[in-house]
Amino acid sequence: MHEMSICEGILLTLEEQSKVQNFNRVKKVWLDIGAFAGVDIQALQFGWEVVTRNTLAHDSQLMINDIPGQAWCLGCSSTVNINNRYDDCPVCGSPRLQVTGGEELKIKELEVD
Ligand SMILES: [Zn+2]
Repeated sequence: MHEMSICEGILLTLEEQSKVQNFNRVKKVWLDIGAFAGVDIQALQFGWEVVTRNTLAHDSQLMINDIPGQAWCLGCSSTVNINNRYDDCPVCGSPRLQVTGGEELKIKELEVD
């Protein structure tokens, strides 16, 4: 499962950070997840419980911050919101969009002890 390896990656980052910033417990993790990141949130939450068992993030909460899809339109020179990566511009109908937001998958904030 793809989400499982994402969880493992996050946990690895937390373990590294715990050494740098000197904390022992992670209580909450806020994640920025873009609309195009291709992440199944339910699977991610489930994976998180499994992966963090008996680690510094045991019983921690995963807080998801949804980032909408955004693109820069070369047709009308404006930033537009899109639901799918290959959508045409909702303003002028141009297919020449450059995705500028929605691919995020990163740790935004931590609550630690
Ligand atoms: Zn446009």
